[in-house]
Amino acid sequence: MPIYEYECTDCGHKLEAIQKMSDDPLKDCPECDTDSLKKLVSAAGFRLKGTGWYETDFKSGSSSGSSAGGSCGTGGCCPAAE
Ligand SMILES: [Zn+2]
Repeated sequence: MPIYEYECTDCGHKLEAIQKMSDDPLKDCPECDTDSLKKLVSAAGFRLKGTGWYETDFKSGSSSGSSAGGSCGTGGCCPAAE
């Protein structure tokens, strides 16, 4: 089941709710008792997208970056270890 994130436009309270797609969006803020809750665009989806992008970038960068890390292993960047 997807997790939806809500933010109260009145008091700024945030909450996450596990709901079915068919459930009505929440409206009542448990903090200030108004019906000012606003459903945020799926934060989980954003997080996954961001992670995937970074992970891909990191992996492609780490293959070429490992040689840079190796140069450090030779003591090139820390002569004091010699
Ligand atoms: Zn509120």
